[in-house]
Amino acid sequence: MAVFYRLRWSDCPPFGPDNAWSALWGGTRSDDGSRTECLTCDGTGQLDGRPCPDRDCDEGWIDCVAGYSCCASAEELIAYFNSRGEPAADDTVVVFEGRQMGTGFDGEPTAVPERIVETLAWADFVSRSK
Ligand SMILES: [Zn+2]
Repeated sequence: MAVFYRLRWSDCPPFGPDNAWSALWGGTRSDDGSRTECLTCDGTGQLDGRPCPDRDCDEGWIDCVAGYSCCASAEELIAYFNSRGEPAADDTVVVFEGRQMGTGFDGEPTAVPERIVETLAWADFVSRSK
């Protein structure tokens, strides 16, 4: 078991193993959250009259990676969002123990949570980590 760090936006589904799927940024999620619409073909499965060239695309859908996309240290999480744009001050960081399932779309670990260690506001997390 390892400790992971994840940012949780205020409009995300509840944090837990049932919702632990990593989606591509900006993708439209399927009802159960396990797949996203392919951005290459806009979910149609075709591009210019031919089958979608994205090798992960299955008739317009791409399987999500099992586990939450997360970081293995506080420093990594902060660096990740420094390059993506800062979260809002009241977005929440979840620190959790879990099992790593694989690797996400940006090379980050993806993990299924087993126990939440703590949750705190992004601003508090950053000031504590300095
Ligand atoms: Zn596609």
